[in-house]
Formats: sequence, structure tokens, C-alpha cells
Amino acid sequence: TNPIHIVGGGMAGSEAAWQVASAGLPVVLHEMRGVTGTDAHKTDGLAELVCSNSFRSDDATANAVGVLHEEMRRLGSLIMRCADEARVPAGSALAVDRDIFSQKVGNTLENHPLVTIRREIIERLPGPHDGQWIIATGPLTHGSLASDIVALTGEDQLAFFDALAPIVHRESINMDVAWLQSRWDKGDGRDYINCPLTEAQYEAFIDALLEGDKTEFKEWEASTPYFEGCMPIEIMAARGRETLRFGPMKPVGLTNPATGKRAHAVIQLRQDNALGTLWNIVGFQTKLKHGEQVRVFRTIPGLEEAEFARLGGLHRNTFIKSPVLLDETLRLKARPNIRFAGQITGCEGYIESAAVGLMAARYAAAEAQGLMPAIPPRTTAHGALLAHITGEADADTFQPMNVNFGLFPPLAHKHHKKERKAGYAARALADMDAWIGTREAAA
Ligand code: FAD
Repeated sequence: TNPIHIVGGGMAGSEAAWQVASAGLPVVLHEMRGVTGTDAHKTDGLAELVCSNSFRSDDATANAVGVLHEEMRRLGSLIMRCADEARVPAGSALAVDRDIFSQKVGNTLENHPLVTIRREIIERLPGPHDGQWIIATGPLTHGSLASDIVALTGEDQLAFFDALAPIVHRESINMDVAWLQSRWDKGDGRDYINCPLTEAQYEAFIDALLEGDKTEFKEWEASTPYFEGCMPIEIMAARGRETLRFGPMKPVGLTNPATGKRAHAVIQLRQDNALGTLWNIVGFQTKLKHGEQVRVFRTIPGLEEAEFARLGGLHRNTFIKSPVLLDETLRLKARPNIRFAGQITGCEGYIESAAVGLMAARYAAAEAQGLMPAIPPRTTAHGALLAHITGEADADTFQPMNVNFGLFPPLAHKHHKKERKAGYAARALADMDAWIGTREAAA
């Protein structure tokens, strides 16, 4: 049998290699570290954690990340097995000794008879007749491969920065204060949620932005030339106190139904997922620290009790416009012998990257064995994350996303917040078990 090739021995590629080998198929893992490095990695080890040593919450009863962990364990994940073995105390979070973790992943793959590891830079995408490939080269994909991806998919289909605006859970917005309306009543007239600010509120908001604690750019990020199109709101505010009122906070074409008048300034939210459960604050990419964002954005009328599915940010990150480029099983539509996996698909986080690697490998292995790749149920954490990446997210505003319950289909009945989380978690794990069961029965 021809091997399945995987490019990138990070979080996604390492998990993918293990899953292919576990399906009984040969795999070649191409990793450039050892020959060259990235701006963030410090070692040549597989599955190196580039920053924090935490895989975040391990609570599978009430947290979407914890549910993803548990689903991965049930799917035989190598990343989760090694993380559990390398665990260090961190309360309800799963944190690891990064060296032990990376060594365990590396040793397991190096000693697997079906796995070949090649230390080399892959500079071009494989051709249509080169067999099955999975590209898992991550947020710091080597420049020549990134250029080749652009050459095949088009200039505007690959981003080098993520400009993250905060995302709010719809149900946490106070619609007694905020209202639905599109500017100048365009579209169906009710496409945006609008939060009104008085002059005093606007001035206080500008002060909070200017004074708030910010994170610094890393040296290599500051020198990346893709920054102009996505200026943080606090930089706009620093250019002049009225700049935001003529930019993302402009009030024209909107009438506050509570007063019958135009507000001094307006903050708009736009629907972020097909389910309508998540809304992003339009144009609000920021480098304010996360705690500051929660504090400052909760001063916005209507968002006093906002729950954030994701906070804003601005980072160096290479990712493709997956909702238009990839099919349901993560294949590049323009060249279906190539799949993408990991952060380059527009998921965000160590464990999300590994989870997408896990599924890409299962799809590829099924295809190699002449089977129909099975897609996990939409109600599972894997299914929710994949549905977001491969089609449900708005392609025009697509930005990397962590797993969160806002991506899950609503429960059949209304629940209080705590029970709702438990409901999502229990449904996900039950449906994952049923899915694994039917797949085993079919095999
Ligand atoms: P990676 O783990 O980066 O793996 C990609 C691999 O591909 C690398 O080993 C690279 O050397 C290799 N490669 C690239 N191009 C080629 C090529 N052309 N040929 C051969 N090999 C190639 N997430 C968190 O959850 N927590 C954090 O604290 C966190 N901090 C981050 C900090 C930084 C600076 C960055 C950039 C990202 C961070 N992330 C964090 C986001 C993300 O979760 C990680 O980047 C994660 O490692 C992504 O997994 P991946 O497998 O997609 O990519």
C-alpha cells in the first residue's frame, strides 16, 4: 500500500500520523524542524507546545474543551494519552510537563513500525497524482509552502494574521437596550444587533481603551507586513477621539427605538454562525488583555452581562479560508488528494488542532481503505468544530475559533445556564459513544 503523507509534526500532524498508523496503514511524517526552525518553536521535538503548557479545562461535564478532551480519549488519541501521562497539577485544567509530553509523542511515533519520519521542508503542494496528503503545517507554515498554497487557491484565501473581534453568546445580550437593525435598513433590515452609546458613555469608553492594559507584539510579529488591514480599536482611538465614531462605531443610518433618535455612537454585532447563537462585535479586533476586554466591553449598554465565546486578539497566524476551500471531509476542493488539518484550517488551540488532525487522518484512512469517511455527529465537540470550519462559518469574516458551546446545536428544551452546559456535554458524549459503536459494528 502507498503511504499517506503528513506535512508537519506538530499537534495536528502527530495525532494524524498516529491515527493513520492505528488504522493499519503506512504513514510518512515530514517535519522541517531539524533542518530549519520557526519563530516560535524552540526544539526539534514532535508536538512541541509553543507557549502555555495548558490544554485548558478538563471538565467533561460542563465545558466544551473538556468534552473535546474526553471525546478524543474515546477515539484513541495519542495526544490525549501522552497529555494524561505527562500531567502536572493544575486544578480542573489539564496541564502537562511539555518536555515529557513531546518526548512521549515522539517516542511512540518513532518506534511505530508503520511510521516513517523525514526531517525536510516541503516547499510545494503535492500534485494531483502524488497520493494522499494531509497538510498540518500550522500557524507558522514555511513561507515557500504558504506561497504555493496561495498560488493554487488565490491571494485572498490565505491570511497571515488573525484579527480577532470578540464573540458574544447571543442569549447574554440585553435586547431591552440593544436592538436589531441594519444600517439604512439594508438587507432584510434586521441583520445587526446595535448597542447605543451616549456622548458621556462614548468618551468614557475611549478613555478605557486608551488606558487599558495591552499585550505587546512579539518582535517577529511586528515586522510582518500584513498588519494594515486589521488595525486594533485602541490604535484607532489613539489616532483621534472621534476616529472610532467615524469608523466601526459610526451611528448613522440607525435609529434607537427606545428614543426614536440616532445615538451618539453605536457598537454593532453581526451574526457569526449559522445557528445564530454567536455574534461578533464588528471591527473590534484589539490587543487589550483578556481581563481588560471583559471589563471594558461590559460597560457597553446591552452587553453588561455579556458572555464571551472568544475574546479579541491580533496574532501572527497562517490559515486558509476553509469554509470555501475545503469539503466536508477536509479535502481541498481544487485538489482532493490533499487534506488540511490543524490550526491552518482555522481552528484555534492545541487541542482543537489535534482534534482536526485526528479527524483528517480518519477520513484519509477510510478513503485509502475504500470506505466512506464517516463524519462525527453535529452534536459532538468534534462535529461542532468541523461543521464550523468546513461550511457553517461566514466565509467573509472567517477567523480562527476555539471550540465552545455556541457552536453546538441548541438543546431541545430551554435550560438554565448551568444545566444547559451539562446538557450539551452529556448529549455530546452519548452521541460520540453511539457513533463509535456503529462504526465498530460496521467494521
Ligand atoms: P504546529 O503545532 O505549529 O505544527 C506545525 C508543524 O509543521 C511544525 O512542527 C512546523 O515545524 C512544521 N512545518 C511548517 N511548515 C512546514 C513545511 N513546509 N514542511 C515541513 N514541516 C513544516 N494554542 C494554545 O492552545 N495555547 C497556547 O498557549 C498557544 N500559544 C500560541 C503561541 C504562538 C506564538 C502561536 C503561533 C500559536 C499558539 N497557539 C496556542 C495556537 C495553536 O494552538 C498552536 O500553534 C498549535 O501548535 C497548532 O497546532 P498545529 O499542529 O496546527 O501546528
